[in-house]
Amino acid sequence: MTEFHYSVDADGVAIITWDVPGKSMNVFSFEGQAELDAAIDKALADDAVKGVVITSAKDSFAGGMDLNVLAELREAAGDSPAQGIFDGITAMHTLLRKIERAGMDPKTLKGGKPIAAALPGTAMGIGLELPLACHRIFAADNARAQIGLPEIKVGIFPGAGGTTRLAWKLGAMAAAPLLLEGKANNPQKAKAAGVIDEVVPADQLMAAAKAWVLSAKDEDLVKPWDKKGYKIPGGTPYSAPGFPTFVGASVMVHANTWGVYPAAKALLSAVYEGMQVPFDTALKIETRYFVSTLLNPSSSAMIRSLFVNKGALEKGANRPEVPDETVKKVGVLGAGMMGAGIAYVSAVAGIEVVLLDSTIEAAEKGKAYSTGILDKAIKRGRGTEEKKAKVLGQITTTTDYADLAGCDLIVEAVFEDPKVKADVTAKAEAVIPETAIYASNTSTLPITSLATASKRPEQFIGIHFFSPVDKMLLVEIIKGAKTGPRAVAKALDYVRQIRKTPIVVNDARFFYANRCIIPYINEGMRLAAEGVPMPMVDHAARLLGFPVGPLQLVDETSLDLGAKIAKATKAAMGNDYPDDAVDEVVFWMVDEGRYGRKTKAGFFDYDDAGKRLGYWHGFNDKYPAVEGAELDEVKNRLMMAQVLEAVRALEEGVLEDIREGDVGAILGWGFAPWSGGPFGWLDIIGAKKAVEICDTLEAKYGKRFACPPLLRDMAAKGQTFYGKTARDAA
Ligand code: NAD
Repeated sequence: MTEFHYSVDADGVAIITWDVPGKSMNVFSFEGQAELDAAIDKALADDAVKGVVITSAKDSFAGGMDLNVLAELREAAGDSPAQGIFDGITAMHTLLRKIERAGMDPKTLKGGKPIAAALPGTAMGIGLELPLACHRIFAADNARAQIGLPEIKVGIFPGAGGTTRLAWKLGAMAAAPLLLEGKANNPQKAKAAGVIDEVVPADQLMAAAKAWVLSAKDEDLVKPWDKKGYKIPGGTPYSAPGFPTFVGASVMVHANTWGVYPAAKALLSAVYEGMQVPFDTALKIETRYFVSTLLNPSSSAMIRSLFVNKGALEKGANRPEVPDETVKKVGVLGAGMMGAGIAYVSAVAGIEVVLLDSTIEAAEKGKAYSTGILDKAIKRGRGTEEKKAKVLGQITTTTDYADLAGCDLIVEAVFEDPKVKADVTAKAEAVIPETAIYASNTSTLPITSLATASKRPEQFIGIHFFSPVDKMLLVEIIKGAKTGPRAVAKALDYVRQIRKTPIVVNDARFFYANRCIIPYINEGMRLAAEGVPMPMVDHAARLLGFPVGPLQLVDETSLDLGAKIAKATKAAMGNDYPDDAVDEVVFWMVDEGRYGRKTKAGFFDYDDAGKRLGYWHGFNDKYPAVEGAELDEVKNRLMMAQVLEAVRALEEGVLEDIREGDVGAILGWGFAPWSGGPFGWLDIIGAKKAVEICDTLEAKYGKRFACPPLLRDMAAKGQTFYGKTARDAA
């Protein structure tokens, strides 16, 4: 055996120890499943074995299913994969049901062998579904351990019985946050929620589990659903208490997902239908919904972008082959909103930080941002005074460039002004080591031109964070014309240290993310100015799966910033500037003092606390609302405004890798995660259909919707972005 090890102790307890070689955390594979199956058979067949404890040799129990395997299973199952996947998942259910029944007589429910799960730490996904099939779950009292079923976050749902077992165990209401939101808990909270049975000190984990196995009685092994007359807590869908729960859950799912996430709906259906039939049939229903979810292009697109490719990028898929560039000391120039966040995430990662601003008050204010976050964490029980002291101890504030001596990386976040940036570049380079890499966090200025202020342009790069830095997961790394491989490696190693996800792009106006976001916001404002009802504009975006509509988004990012960017862009582009129609709206709003949330007036009205009260009716006095706008066309315009920019970025070589385009879009601006990103979306609808949409929109609205040649060519050849071969998606 390689993944599950089997031994029997002196008391006759079989210990099955999960220990996948070469991995820091166990993940479930089909090879492992066969080994576990064989081990269970052996234990049940051996008269000398009184019971079983399933545990792990690692400090966690398991991280879940290897989603790469699930993706491979789907690919391997050929042209009609449903049966293949169904059979594979059914085999898993059969094994877990065998553990649950543990050899007992199906009629008398007697004679089974007790099987306990002993979790030393984190147990996620199948790593919890397996324990849920055991008769009792013990967990070590490890506050950092996470216990939960997070599948929904990557577009699937627990399909190895976890959905059915948890819903039947806790009732639909209590199981809802765990299943529909993928909420994980530490062991104490998981016990309080009824997910696991016992929390014991880590050094007593195995002893407690074994003691239970040796003392368990026949009735301790029978799951409630295998007993006659079991009533699921909270009731089934057609009971008086259950009915409102399911109606409410259905409303909640639709309110949260706007109907675009197939997994949430499938999960709910599996629970709803499953609770009306016997348990074994419920498992079969769960399997069928799981298979259909897995086969939905949305699920494979989400797994691909949010799990497989996100992981690959974080592991350095596009890192140049140069030696390790781990950052030891970073100089952060400018302690404003961005610099303060950059200092915090760096210090948390254990990197020494020098935080420099033009006054010590400004630098201290930047450091105080970290204090604020750490205090909040302590208040919520998620941090300690020691951790706070350690993180703050990593940050030195200064106004003196000499303190940057010894920094191996500089991240500059001063005002967005080329002169100011050039000045600080020269001052910093005068003191930092010759080998240091210098990065700018600029959001709009070309890296190649900023690099002209540097003595070492091959060591100059863009590291573009998103706001708020501590929450946003994406970091966009920008290569200037002269940026060398070591600078790229440094930036990637730094992003890995601070546990964010990197994409690497080439230098061009607005790089990648902002290049796509701006047309989205602009298209929203164009629609509103054409008289499309404002709620319809934002709702169309929600129906596409965007977290916020463009009008709400521009209120958050502020219209004065929009005006500033528009002016600078127009100055740079001259006659090619495409957005005069939008500027009319933006400049008028700014003249009206309607900057967005920050002035408590924008496309929305706000109360004094900054809460949105509703759309501002005054807008339609100037731009009267018209009737007859078509929702599908509004959706197509908002979608294509972004997607075509992504394709152009690829055509122009700004993007070098569609994986980065997709992962960057989801993490950078919340691009419809259900679609796997702009390229994933295009693959789902098919290039042919995309061309049709472009041609229609171009005829009506002009060349901003012109189909990029790359896409037209792919449509002609029946190609997809991710498929090597033509699989006409139309
Ligand atoms: P900010 O105005 O909040 O902070 C800028 C800080 O730089 C201020 O504390 C200022 O005192 C300091 N500063 C200015 N000139 C200086 C000098 N010569 N020497 C030392 N310190 C100096 O601005 P911000 O929003 O943090 O943006 C900083 C940079 O990050 C800009 O280039 C901006 O384009 C970029 N950026 C901003 C965002 C965002 O959402 N705000 C997102 C990505 C990138």
